[in-house]
Amino acid sequence: MNPQDIAKAVDHRLGFAEDLFDAAAARTRDGDGITRACWSTEDQAVAEIFAEAARSLDLEVVFDRVGNVYATLPGRDRSAPGILSGSHLDSVPRGGNFDGYAGAVAGLTALAAFRDLGIAPPCDLTATGIRGEESVWYGTAYLGSRMAVGALPHDELDRLKRGDTGRSLGEHMAELGFDPDALKVEAEPHISPKTTKAFLELHIEQGPILIGEGIPVGIPMGIKGNARWPYGRCVGAYDHAAAVPRDYRRDAVLATVELIGAVEALWHEMEAEGIPNLVFTAGKLFTNPEEHAMTKIPGECDFALNFGATDTAVLDRARARIPELAAEIAARRKVVFDLGELVGTDPTPLDETLRTDLGKSAESLGIPAKVMATVGHDASIFQRAGIPSAMVLVRNEHGSHNAQEAMEMADFGLGVRVLAATMLARA
Ligand SMILES: [Zn+2]
Repeated sequence: MNPQDIAKAVDHRLGFAEDLFDAAAARTRDGDGITRACWSTEDQAVAEIFAEAARSLDLEVVFDRVGNVYATLPGRDRSAPGILSGSHLDSVPRGGNFDGYAGAVAGLTALAAFRDLGIAPPCDLTATGIRGEESVWYGTAYLGSRMAVGALPHDELDRLKRGDTGRSLGEHMAELGFDPDALKVEAEPHISPKTTKAFLELHIEQGPILIGEGIPVGIPMGIKGNARWPYGRCVGAYDHAAAVPRDYRRDAVLATVELIGAVEALWHEMEAEGIPNLVFTAGKLFTNPEEHAMTKIPGECDFALNFGATDTAVLDRARARIPELAAEIAARRKVVFDLGELVGTDPTPLDETLRTDLGKSAESLGIPAKVMATVGHDASIFQRAGIPSAMVLVRNEHGSHNAQEAMEMADFGLGVRVLAATMLARA
């Protein structure tokens, strides 16, 4: 298929996509933003909007046992593994309309364009709207995609409670008419390498890079992992601020600040070596309000360290080096560091062949695309389930997880062109 024909067909369906965005926003508006809790009447309404639009295109619509929705343009060989494209329908409280939902709309817009072009693909092409990606509701992310690939332990359905209602995931699912118990009996997952040969997810960029560099589309090489110490603590000694000379002090705040500075220096040192995609955040830093005072040397300081990278070896280096830095500072400043439990996830490299295909599609369509890293998305779950997965990021202003997300429809159109061309090339 000529790339210009795909471009024209996608552009012709941008009004269809805009209607889908408007309908979902109107139904789930909450103050300035939108709120779609996972497995609520709101994300259900958006799933129905998606399903209704798919039926209007005469696509096959199914909901799986847990409420993920799929719209399929049937292939000539129905038994061949197909291509899946989509993203999540839920949002954070008072978030933006594009985080997640843009990917579901993108998949459907591509299928609408294929319908208009009269394409009968060799294998099934499916757009999906996935439930439960945001961790804010149940304290854990990717619930819908993990259930789709059979990667969520069954006891999580009872164990996970929604923060604001206190009721279990299974209860909320059952209330909407889905069958969480079906997951408890051994069953074939709805999505597996047998059913699906590629997963492609379009998502807005949630950082400032594409806007900053004036590039409409990004193609991530992988999803960042992280090494995190959520409950770090430094203990020194409370003492008189004016009476104690420097050599006698055991100042927990100055020791912690030195550690944070040393980790920042490690970050810069790694960047100077040419290691890309590093981030470091000390998102929590506080003294004990029941003890602290301007006239006291602080004896306690609590903090969190969060180091991110796209390379496991780089994260291993940070995991090893940061405790060494803490030990060296503790000995010199006569304090004790307890970094607490080390948590985090490994990076997920995305499928190299698919990424190359996305790059070739962008090039043939004349669309500038930047190779970059991205944050956690459903694509990592499909990739880890053995389904080759890749992503298209679309330029978006004002960040994400807020009401000010701003994606231009023209940029969305460019992203969908790349997505659609790659779906066809892969089919
Ligand atoms: Zn998202």
